[in-house]
Amino acid sequence: RAATGPLPAHPRVDELVEQAYRWAMPDTSGAVADYIPALADADPELFGLCVVEVDGASHAVGDVDVAFSIQSISKAFVYALVCEELGHAGVLERIGVDNTGLAFNSVMAIELNDGHPRNPMVNAGAIATTAMVPAADPDARWAAVRTGLSRFAGRDLALDDEVYASEAATNQRNRAIARLLESYGRLEDPLEAVDVYTRQCSLLVTTRDVAVMGATLADGGVNPVTGERVVSPDVCRDTLAVLASTGMYERSGTWLFEIGLPGKSGVAGGVVAVAPGKAGIGAFSPRLDAAGNSVRAQEAIGYLSRALGLNLFASA
Ligand code: GLN
Repeated sequence: RAATGPLPAHPRVDELVEQAYRWAMPDTSGAVADYIPALADADPELFGLCVVEVDGASHAVGDVDVAFSIQSISKAFVYALVCEELGHAGVLERIGVDNTGLAFNSVMAIELNDGHPRNPMVNAGAIATTAMVPAADPDARWAAVRTGLSRFAGRDLALDDEVYASEAATNQRNRAIARLLESYGRLEDPLEAVDVYTRQCSLLVTTRDVAVMGATLADGGVNPVTGERVVSPDVCRDTLAVLASTGMYERSGTWLFEIGLPGKSGVAGGVVAVAPGKAGIGAFSPRLDAAGNSVRAQEAIGYLSRALGLNLFASA
């Protein structure tokens, strides 16, 4: 199928979501993230897949209501919130939009660029982006992040205290990244920024939530379930462009080549993909590839992209 035209009728999409799920299920390659101790306990067999269309219709299969920490998927939505507040040019001046070609927590990527975070989807850029959320103090900044992400999801998202405590105790590398940004004069209060960022990554979501969040970006910034406008269409466009080039870290080119959609992964095993004007896709399964992207989520979303004709580069 080509990327033009609407999605097939509801029962057909249901059927294809089931097929995508069955297609990806046998792939047990990859490994659960364990550099954050609390994540190592995840059940590797969990697998959920959900499509939410821009009219709010949803298609779900598997463990779609199991909660997991959002991790780096949050970066996409915090970036959108900051772009909404500060505007395209103001954000671009401080955070780039180019792929680093390096791991999400690379320090080299910062050094190669005079401390200018190369994009908001790797940790350096994400920590700097979180620090840009307008707020009077850290508590207010955290509240703004949590409220903003909740509006994308259409419900109040809660913190996973255990994941937060576990990552806060072991995130020396992120603190080092923030200190390095500080040394280049690009971050004022590095430890505060890392703390809000760590909380943001520890918010609990379900696969269904992730699909609704993606559908909000697919729908020009209006949450199709609550009807609330969260960000502007311009901000959606800009955020999706950044996701296309950087959302899957150093594997972003491979992902775009195979799947042809903007997407963002998190190390708990969640992935969001966005078919602009059509639907958001949420997928979750904890086993990750070497770049930190869920293996089954990639398989399932790839299947759906082909079966539903979602690849943005397909003209026929
Ligand atoms: N909180 C994680 C970290 O900063 C997020 C990384 C990810 O999901 N890739 O290491």
